[in-house]
Amino acid sequence: MAQPRRRAVLATANEGKRRELEQLLGDEWELITQGVLGVEPVEETGVTFLENALLKARHAAAATGLPAIADDSGLEVDCLGGAPGVWSARYAGEEADDAANNEKLLAALQDRPADQRGARFRCVMVFVRGADDPEPVVADRSWEGRIGKGPKGTGGFGYDPLFIDPVSGRHSAELTPAEKNARSHRGQAALDLRDQLLGRG
Ligand code: IMP
Repeated sequence: MAQPRRRAVLATANEGKRRELEQLLGDEWELITQGVLGVEPVEETGVTFLENALLKARHAAAATGLPAIADDSGLEVDCLGGAPGVWSARYAGEEADDAANNEKLLAALQDRPADQRGARFRCVMVFVRGADDPEPVVADRSWEGRIGKGPKGTGGFGYDPLFIDPVSGRHSAELTPAEKNARSHRGQAALDLRDQLLGRG
C-alpha cells in the first residue's frame, strides 16, 4: 500500500517554484505554498544565505504549524569579494529590476578579462520540522561558472543572461528549463535535500 505523503509548507508564494520542487523531491512529499495559506513573506534581514533560508523556513513553520522548506540563493562573483551575494536581488537598489542589476554587474566587471570573471550561483535550501527545530536539514550547493561580457539568451530570470555555464559554454538564459535544472544550484540543492530527508522523521 502506498505511504501517505508527507506535507510541508514552502516559504514562497510562487506556484511555479512549488511545482518544480515537488517534482524534484519525489513522491514522498506534498508541498503547499505559504502564499496559499495566507502567510506574508518575512523580511530577509540575514547576511548569509543560510540565515535568510532559516528565517524564511522558521517563519512559515511558526505561521502554519507545518514542517517547512525554504531556500535562499544568489550570485557570488570572485573578484567582487563574493558580491552581490545575499543582496543579489537588490544589487542596484531596493527597487532594482533584473536589467538594472545586470547593468551594474557588467559595469563593475568592465575591465576584467575572462580569467577574472569567475562566479557561482549558490543556493541554500533548508527543512525544519517546526519553528523551533534545533537541527535543521541544510543543503548548500553551487553552480560554478563565469560572467560574460554581455547578455545572451531569453530564458530564466535574474543574472541568467550573463552567467556562462562552463560545461555547455552557453549562457544560463540560453538553456532550456530542464537543462538548467539539471545543472543549477537550486536543482542540486533540492536533490541533496531530498537525499538527506529520505527515511528521516
Ligand atoms: P532569492 O533566492 O529568490 O532571494 O533570489 C535572489 C536573487 O538571486 C534573484 O533575484 C536573482 O537575482 C539571483 N538568482 C538566484 N538564482 C538565480 C538563477 O537561477 N538565475 C539567475 N539569477 C538568480
